[in-house]
Amino acid sequence: MATILKGAEVVAALNERIIGQVEALKEKGVNPTLGIIRVGERGDDISYERGAMKRCEKLGVGVKQYLLPADVDQATLLATIDEVNKDTGVHGVLMFRPLPKHLNEEEACQALDPEKDVDGITDGSMVGVFTGQKKGFPPCTPSACMEILDHFGIDCKGKKAVVVGRSLVVGKPAAMMLLKKNATVTVCHTKTVDMPAVCREADILIVAAGRAAVVDKEYFAPGQTVIDVGINVTEEGKLCGDCNFEDAEAIVDGITPVPGGVGTVTTSVLVGHVVEAAMRQTEK
Ligand code: NAP
Repeated sequence: MATILKGAEVVAALNERIIGQVEALKEKGVNPTLGIIRVGERGDDISYERGAMKRCEKLGVGVKQYLLPADVDQATLLATIDEVNKDTGVHGVLMFRPLPKHLNEEEACQALDPEKDVDGITDGSMVGVFTGQKKGFPPCTPSACMEILDHFGIDCKGKKAVVVGRSLVVGKPAAMMLLKKNATVTVCHTKTVDMPAVCREADILIVAAGRAAVVDKEYFAPGQTVIDVGINVTEEGKLCGDCNFEDAEAIVDGITPVPGGVGTVTTSVLVGHVVEAAMRQTEK
């Protein structure tokens, strides 16, 4: 039976580190603060926002909300982003996406100051991910995957890592981060031929396909560590990952659960990025 790589354990360690950093900042008179820009009332956004606000409160990080109606125009959105960029009391910004279709999302993302881009949505942050330079912040979800590997002492050096999914939010940055950890990385997508065989070769398998339980026993092999990034809702209304959990549990060495895995770590990574942003801005 696989070890269940529980997010709660990683969160506890991360939170301890963050609380220490927050205390040090407060001694210098800095209150690290997250700015949240939300357009409209999407249920997914509101539930993530609620979780992020709760985690911020627990860790002593402030929150400032910028709530805009679903029919907001581009000029008003850009003016709000400009206001947040200029507000020295806000250190990191979370802007929910996708934005409503009538808005130019690319322009809005690039308008954000990369120094405050704690979820890797600007080109500046992507440059940091792909070059290894300390620019902006990587997206929180692949960062959470790396935190999980680090916490459970899974050394990536020389290992074969396979990432399923090539989005800019998860798959591509995860691949770059694994490369930085000296893994040999393969990225799979919908055009990959014989994906089960490719995945079975992996020592470390990160799955971010966005399809419920699409990765099953055909894809797993003994000895693997599997990080399931997927968050899907079944017809019965239950949360499940992109991996068939029971299949993985019977075959692999370690697997993250859904819920209670990557998602919960992602929230603490977000708060950690806000605190890191506050530290960088204070050093300046
Ligand atoms: P996305 O933009 O839809 O990208 C999905 C990727 O998976 C694409 O590259 C796609 O390939 C590939 N893919 C889809 N079905 C596949 C299949 N059957 N075989 C091989 N590759 C396949 O999704 P995303 O934003 O990266 O999110 C991925 C998952 O992570 C979703 O379940 C999402 O809910 C979850 N997520 C979780 C968190 C968290 O905090 N835990 C945060 C963000 C996202 P092509 O490029 O060829 O289309």
